[in-house]
Amino acid sequence: MPIGNVHLFGDRGWVSSADLRESIRDRWGLTESQVRGAGPADVFQIPGAKGTLGFISQMSECFCDRCNRMRLSADGWLRPCLLNETGQIDLKTALRSGTSTAQLQEQVSSLLAIKPEINFKGRDSGNKGIYTRTMSQIGG
Ligand code: SF4
Repeated sequence: MPIGNVHLFGDRGWVSSADLRESIRDRWGLTESQVRGAGPADVFQIPGAKGTLGFISQMSECFCDRCNRMRLSADGWLRPCLLNETGQIDLKTALRSGTSTAQLQEQVSSLLAIKPEINFKGRDSGNKGIYTRTMSQIGG
């Protein structure tokens, strides 16, 4: 995702998952898998293959409504959403100052509980200048 580079959101500098699936289906066949992961991937299978193919299609098939991802940034913040810093926890400082595991568990549980309300709701328009950190600065 071109996070922090809002002008790249509409540039189609990416291939849609539907197009990728079509190419794979044309060549090898592709069916929905019975296997379901715990994350946001849509899981498919090539007939006869042992493994599965998971598509995390944030650019072409926004899944913010059902996102269950959290991210630990390179500078130690636990972020509930890549595009919304609301409620993020400064884990680095907490750990270095001796915050107990029980306290941290409580903080993380509370953050998880409100994550559905924090999830970014306008992914199609990029971050609209909400903040300017790029994916690599966040730690992606
Ligand atoms: S809710 Fe946030 S982290 Fe999840 S997919 Fe949307 S923008 Fe990304």
